[in-house]
Amino acid sequence: MEGIETCPRCGVPAYITTEHLWHPSGFIVQRRDARHILIFMESENLDFLLRELEGILGVSIERIVVDTRRRAAKAYMDRVIPESLKEQVRSGNLDVGPVVQGMVGIGHVLGYGRFEVLDSRLEGDDQDYLLVRVHRPYSITLGCVDPVAAFEALVGREMGLSYDAAGPDTYEIRAFPSPHPEEFKGRLTMRRYAYPEGNIQLEACPRCEAPLLLGEYEWRLEEGLILHRETGRRMVFFAPSVLEAIFGELERELGEAIPGSVVEAQRRLTRDGFYSLAGGDLTEELRTVLSLRGLGGLQHLELGPEGLLLEMENACLHPVLAGLAQGLFEALHGVDSRVEWEAGEGGGLRVKVSA
Ligand SMILES: [Zn+2]
Repeated sequence: MEGIETCPRCGVPAYITTEHLWHPSGFIVQRRDARHILIFMESENLDFLLRELEGILGVSIERIVVDTRRRAAKAYMDRVIPESLKEQVRSGNLDVGPVVQGMVGIGHVLGYGRFEVLDSRLEGDDQDYLLVRVHRPYSITLGCVDPVAAFEALVGREMGLSYDAAGPDTYEIRAFPSPHPEEFKGRLTMRRYAYPEGNIQLEACPRCEAPLLLGEYEWRLEEGLILHRETGRRMVFFAPSVLEAIFGELERELGEAIPGSVVEAQRRLTRDGFYSLAGGDLTEELRTVLSLRGLGGLQHLELGPEGLLLEMENACLHPVLAGLAQGLFEALHGVDSRVEWEAGEGGGLRVKVSA
């Protein structure tokens, strides 16, 4: 893709390494603001979590997911878009379409699929709109929101959104002026992360300092895809604070069964062999798997036929990690199990799985 530099040694786009640091804590930290972290996750896993949750709960969660994601994205866009740019768009000196295109273009580097602004109108009345086509979104429920949030932050007006299928794995997303639902206003809590310095070391590319393991992935920038070169598995960068906010909103609306349901969904995926470990030093291998994905710093792992104990110095998405530990144990030993987990001081996590 034009204008996007990649490392000649490992192929990772410069944007990824200049903006993010694989931190010794096991998190992927935003260099501009270290309280913000990202995970690098199999997109299938994200989608599976949401789908399974819906199945376990027996109700549609799309409205809550879209709305939480939209508010988080809007707050983010509001923060990162310079006021001068907003003014230029609002005064009509700059065409809003190309500006939105430039912003959603960043999603191509993060693995979000190919976004194309088709049309826009900005006259300051109720007929204004933005029309965007997306091909192969990592998740249409989560991914329909980004262009709308950019549009909303630029023009400074609340927008509604809708999307329709427009071909194989292709959707057209429309944003239009519409006040946000009152019920959701002002109650989104986004976690900001504090974490210890940590001792996690991933071998780094000598040229760009990205973890060398990222070289196993191919960035297809034109298509907005990040694929594992061997397995073809698709990856995506995503803010765990958004997922945690979604789980929080779901819990508020649907009750205390939510954390357990997230564990259960992740257990099912992992037990079915989604994360297969090669053997060898299991602790070392799992530490690498978790820290490459920015899920946290694994300190201790005990595993036997009776159970598994996992201790992390810091960790995001605790219920996902509890489900992952449980699924891993069950995949290795072929038995059912029970799981308990507790948060430790400073964002730590302790998971105990018993056969
Ligand atoms: Zn490199």
